[in-house]
Amino acid sequence: MVAYVNERELREQICLIGQLMHRNQYIDGASGNISARLSDDRILATPSGLAKGFMTPDQLIIVNMDGERVGPTTSANAHLRPTSELMMHLECYKQRPDVMGVVHAHPPTAIAMTIAGIDFGQCLVPEMVVILGIIPTTPYATPSGVENRDAISRLILEHDAIMLAYHGSLTVAKDVWDAYMRLESLEHTAKILFMVHQLGGPKSSISPDQVEKLIAIRQKLGLARPGDAERFYQACGVGRPATDDLENRVRQMVTNLLSQHYS
Ligand SMILES: [Zn+2]
Repeated sequence: MVAYVNERELREQICLIGQLMHRNQYIDGASGNISARLSDDRILATPSGLAKGFMTPDQLIIVNMDGERVGPTTSANAHLRPTSELMMHLECYKQRPDVMGVVHAHPPTAIAMTIAGIDFGQCLVPEMVVILGIIPTTPYATPSGVENRDAISRLILEHDAIMLAYHGSLTVAKDVWDAYMRLESLEHTAKILFMVHQLGGPKSSISPDQVEKLIAIRQKLGLARPGDAERFYQACGVGRPATDDLENRVRQMVTNLLSQHYS
């Protein structure tokens, strides 16, 4: 088993992220959850029932890829159990070997947009085009367990940010801090789009040439996901789906499946 990170530092970082999520009102009460990959088959995760803005590093728990608690317990976490929403996190790690951190939150503006039927498939905000791409919204799923997992399952290969209708957000990244940064970008973008709609809707948009420049920056930063070209073409009418896009997507899926099978 390969250790990827300093576990102590990661515990502290997850607690800091919990504080920021609470302070920025991305979560309330005991909602939301944060996890990070410790190794191929070990995940450090926030437990069920705790206010994520007030956790201590020793309260975090370690689970295997089946969601079972493993590893040493402490007096601070012996009584704590995994969240039912952990299945959603595990699905991300299983499908995406590149994912090292997952954040699930309840950002109010972004959730309100899913309820109002305003989608994120618009190229109106440069930050969104570059960092988040076209964000999909799942159909409503009961906020726990299998339904949540199934809702994101067919999307996570091609997206780093997903909205769960009426419920919350899911962001993933190469580390848990970047997954949190994507949550910040998501809610910030949602606030802008919300204000645009309050002001009567968009009266203009970024020109296709300029959007293509943003997509090029996204690619240069290594943020592009399989299927990007097709999505930007369908949502914003820019670019043209590469003829080998489908081939690339299939290749990525096969690579991930093989990685899961032999890991
Ligand atoms: Zn939730």
